Amino acid sequence: MGAAYSSCSSLFLAFPTVTLYSSPITTSSQSYPRSKSKPKPFSSTIDKIRNTRFLEPVKIMAQTSFPCSGLAVKCGKVGEVENQEEGTTRKPMVDYHGIDQVLLDEMVYDALVWSSLHGLLVGDKSVERSGKVPGVGLVHAPSALLPMPFPENQWRQAVELTPIFSELVDRVSLDGKFLQESLSRTKKADAFTSRLLDLHSKMLEINKKEDIRLGLHRSDYMLDEQTKLLLQIELNTISCSFPGLSSLVTELHRSVLNHYGEVLGLDPKRIPGNNANGYFVEAFAKAWTEYNNPRALVMFVVQAEERNMYDQHWLSAVLKERYNITAIRKTMAEIDAEAELLSDGTLLVGGKAIAVIYFRAGYKPDDYPSESEWRARLLMEQSSAIKCPSISYHLAGTKKIQQELAKPDVLERFLDNKEDIAKLRKCFAGLWSLDDPNIVKEAIERPELFVMKPQREGGGNNIYGADVRETLLRLQKEGTDGSAAYILMQRIFPTVFQTFLLRNGICHQDNAVSELGIYGAYLRNKDKVIMNDQCGYLLRTKTSSSDEGGVAAGFAVLDSIYLT
Ligand code: ADP
Ligand code: MG
Repeated sequence: MGAAYSSCSSLFLAFPTVTLYSSPITTSSQSYPRSKSKPKPFSSTIDKIRNTRFLEPVKIMAQTSFPCSGLAVKCGKVGEVENQEEGTTRKPMVDYHGIDQVLLDEMVYDALVWSSLHGLLVGDKSVERSGKVPGVGLVHAPSALLPMPFPENQWRQAVELTPIFSELVDRVSLDGKFLQESLSRTKKADAFTSRLLDLHSKMLEINKKEDIRLGLHRSDYMLDEQTKLLLQIELNTISCSFPGLSSLVTELHRSVLNHYGEVLGLDPKRIPGNNANGYFVEAFAKAWTEYNNPRALVMFVVQAEERNMYDQHWLSAVLKERYNITAIRKTMAEIDAEAELLSDGTLLVGGKAIAVIYFRAGYKPDDYPSESEWRARLLMEQSSAIKCPSISYHLAGTKKIQQELAKPDVLERFLDNKEDIAKLRKCFAGLWSLDDPNIVKEAIERPELFVMKPQREGGGNNIYGADVRETLLRLQKEGTDGSAAYILMQRIFPTVFQTFLLRNGICHQDNAVSELGIYGAYLRNKDKVIMNDQCGYLLRTKTSSSDEGGVAAGFAVLDSIYLT
């Protein structure tokens, strides 16, 4: 999800150890299969999690410590990378040990220059005004030096799923009762979700219809190493970040391979094109056309401080250049101060009509420090402007709804095509509510196999490992509605690859895992579906020792894929 750069941690700054995933452990209560044979077909979600060979993190010492600092990059070598179970060294796409240091320095230098010249940039957190004033305190976006291998079949699968998920969100958004009922227990346990639901209830009460509906979604996946299954992490329906910068990182990698591909044995044509920025802009332009007021503007709802502003400026700049449509940037507080609603539903901000509202804020409690922001959200929701997303789309993307949709027979309520349903179901990981005592018991016994998720977006909110056990035991003891704030999810263990990560002009070599996000644009006016396409992708790569994955939150870097 979109996020400011305020919480950048220095996770990539020191990794004396390398974490790999090794063989599972067996507890007295539960035995998880270790065999390399194919898992049996899943008969239930619990079987599904049981049939997955879970891998335990095991630490091995790196031979050399890194990183090294400064632009003259001297990445230390990682110690022999062993797959503990099979006792073999993983075969990387590139022989990282074999890369000559001079060559590496050159590639890193070129990549940093390319990023600076082409706007692959974020605000530098060490510069105070970098989140407020464009052009002040810029630094290249955290990115991988080379693309990550990704199997072509699963890539195609992820692409193919995109329009189906977008259609699903649209259908779910129209079922106000389903949204309210599914989230009714969460409402009691989570004040933020409760406010969102109140807003949604108000819209149901006034029978608010959104004839023109615009969704700019991103469905995120990880590839489970053992089963090779592409499993969905989450479906984002609000503030999906990096359409601008992810397109650029793909270009960066093509540029690196155009220059160095031959010596590395890599073909730049194996990197799929990524025009997420162009598609997003096209979606805004088409939505604006449907709104049919030539004087109306597009409004980006933004956070007061945003170090990821260039990702957003890429959208507004291209929108202006290509379609001559102006986008303004406003915080929720500014909207509260400047907006008015005309009797015909037109939203005026600073006296100008708004055709499309694009939220890059408003997805987390911090975005609502006072009642002013909630007033602004309500006013926008009441208006005839096209909201990306509407409150219904926003709620359809919550983790609780993801978990509800994974229950048996629920997809069938919204989709007719059996093949489509089967395709979606195939990518669902194990998802459970905390009402299920068997799963809670399992998660207490084997917390490393689960991720516990509250209804939050933007990274850094999930619970892992021993904290899962602790939190579950605490909730059991309290015996209140608190548990309804969370869902439990099967932990996915993707393949670990070596990679070079670039952050703050420093190159780090590390073992990493990736998460693939496919953007989808959906635009509809009443019965007419104007756009429903996959529109580019985002690969985020993080060190395998890190649980969380956000780029903006400081856990991951931007990456692209190399089809294998
Ligand atoms: P957010 O809305 O905060 O982005 P996510 O559900 O995407 O929440 O979780 C944040 C990060 O946590 C992901 O990007 C991923 O790196 C990691 N993660 C989430 N779910 C799982 C899972 N089931 N298995 C492994 N890692 C996960
Ligand atoms: Mg996420």
